[in-house]
Amino acid sequence: MCHDEHGMRLLIVEDEADLATALARGLRRSGYAVDIAADGLRGWELAETNEYDLLVLDLNLPGMDGMDLAACVRRSRPHLAILVLTARSGVDDRVSGLDAGVDDYLVKPFHFEELAARVRALLRRGLPTREPVLRVGNLALDPAALRAWQGEVEILLTPKEFGILAYLMARPGAVVSQEELLEHVWDAFADPFTHTVRVHVSSLRRKLHDDADRPVHIETVIGRGYRLLPAGPAR
Ligand code: CA
Repeated sequence: MCHDEHGMRLLIVEDEADLATALARGLRRSGYAVDIAADGLRGWELAETNEYDLLVLDLNLPGMDGMDLAACVRRSRPHLAILVLTARSGVDDRVSGLDAGVDDYLVKPFHFEELAARVRALLRRGLPTREPVLRVGNLALDPAALRAWQGEVEILLTPKEFGILAYLMARPGAVVSQEELLEHVWDAFADPFTHTVRVHVSSLRRKLHDDADRPVHIETVIGRGYRLLPAGPAR
């Protein structure tokens, strides 16, 4: 991976070739590594396969609309900063853009310096926004590092087990339904059966040495879902 001195890699998704080239040149001069995609599908492909720090996204794109792309990327890359470029300046567009997980937007035409300032601000903001480590009972989970511990012992979890535990640990004591877990932990292309959730919850329980009949961590609330016991084990 060709990271530069800042170690920041940007993706520009813009179908106006002249604009994309000019932005890339300016941003490279500012010290960033920059890739360009000329349509939405290529943009999605690149965003899924590379670790970008920021996405500069035009809204009006061939292949896949910028808003749809933002929504897809947001699901798989929750920490990627997204700066939208738009010729649309209506208030509704801005609101729906922010809903789709867009971090900032710039209305065309704009000066390069304005874009560069927004990029710097978003990247700066991205650096310290490491999510805090979650702690419930003797469990700890670091969402940024994708690591979890039970007491001093690290638990090796699959991505789904990790997602389930993270979701439950963010809501200790609350009942979380299987549908809610499916919606938040699985992506849009998931096998839509709650049986899948049960399978992953039971493997998670095994790794936590938790007994479904006498749980110290994950309690089954019959007909409702699961609850992470806030106190954890009494040892
Ligand atoms: Ca365009």
